[in-house]
Amino acid sequence: MTTVDPTREPEEESAVETARGQLERAAAHLDVDQGTIERLRQSTAVYRVAVPLERDDGTTEVYTAYRAHHDDVRGPYKGGLRYHPGVTQEECVGLAMWMTWKCALMDIPFGGGKGGVVVDPKELSRGEKERLTRRLAQELRPVIGPMKDIPAPDMGTDPQTMAWFMDAYSMQEGETCPGVVTGKPPVIGGSYGREEAPGLSVGIITEQALAYYDTDLEGTTVAVQGFGSVGANAARYLDDAGATVVAVSDVDGAIFDPDGLDTNDVEDHDETPGMVSGYDAPQSLSNEELLTLDVDVLIPAAIGNVLTATNAHEVQADLIVEGANGPTTSTADRIFEERGIPVIPDILANAGGVTVSYFEWLQDINRRAWSLERVYDELETEMLSAWEDMRTEYDSRDVTWRDAAYIVALRRVAEAHGARGLWP
Ligand code: GLU
Repeated sequence: MTTVDPTREPEEESAVETARGQLERAAAHLDVDQGTIERLRQSTAVYRVAVPLERDDGTTEVYTAYRAHHDDVRGPYKGGLRYHPGVTQEECVGLAMWMTWKCALMDIPFGGGKGGVVVDPKELSRGEKERLTRRLAQELRPVIGPMKDIPAPDMGTDPQTMAWFMDAYSMQEGETCPGVVTGKPPVIGGSYGREEAPGLSVGIITEQALAYYDTDLEGTTVAVQGFGSVGANAARYLDDAGATVVAVSDVDGAIFDPDGLDTNDVEDHDETPGMVSGYDAPQSLSNEELLTLDVDVLIPAAIGNVLTATNAHEVQADLIVEGANGPTTSTADRIFEERGIPVIPDILANAGGVTVSYFEWLQDINRRAWSLERVYDELETEMLSAWEDMRTEYDSRDVTWRDAAYIVALRRVAEAHGARGLWP
């Protein structure tokens, strides 16, 4: 049973609807009591705050922000904070749910949270972004904290945003609290390797998936939608490992070279916006055309809901590895299942981000930094172990890769609920 109505336009499907449908599919394979499933269909709480900002011209603007707490049975709520004009309450709840499964699948002791401000960060000056972030930290202060809920970078936010957030929180608490957010600059308790981690994990998991299907990485063609922090690091990792990255894109369009792009030469969108589509490549394409290229591996690493009922039949890739959160609608997922195109889910592929966030949190608590080498080593170990857990389920049942990942995650979360019980 799924909650998805296939007659509806997939674009209308919200993240929370997609997430609930995925939960129900996994639940069908496990013996989890209905009360626990009902709790997991909901989020524990969603906070909505108004964030006033004094603009540079002296006027005041009030922005809406949300923080969703999905489930914390395994540890503090954990998840990104995005600045994006399309942020909604429903989206935050869906994304928070995905964080619950992501942390459980990685077996790290965090629950799921997510938040965002309804704002276009490109329209704010640096000073405005700083004031907005500081005021947001103050508004959310009652519901976050190093042992309660730990935000991190996401779309439209970065290490500097986390530094301002941590500073504002710490000033109010009267003590330096590095563990209140992750993804900070290393100089104030951030972890080495955190920024590139989601992209690296996409690369590591793509290698595993190709090996599973007996495909040699050497010469494998790859298209990556989105050349920001996730996409650029994934593309460069795979390029350096021998794959042929034929197409990458930013919000303005894609570049294509059938002989392979030099991904280390293309500046990423976060470094210099517009440099990707402006790069001197043999051919330019639209983002939509990139998704339907005849490649071995397609990595959607930009935004959610890009693989839909409208284009899923046109996709020619043999393997899809999700770099973004929620790039595939439920309808598209069913189409790929019917067409036999494996989709390696976001909750595993991009989980390097939250995994190194966990390493960062440990370093903050212990006040002891790890070397980059240690971060990379431990990240690889964690990714391979989670891959094995998912693969074991995949091999033992007639399910998709996403179902297999959800089964592992749901089992862990449900067992934790069973052990802790319902109080009172
Ligand atoms: N925003 C990232 C994600 O979606 C990272 C979350 C975190 O590090 O807490 O996984």
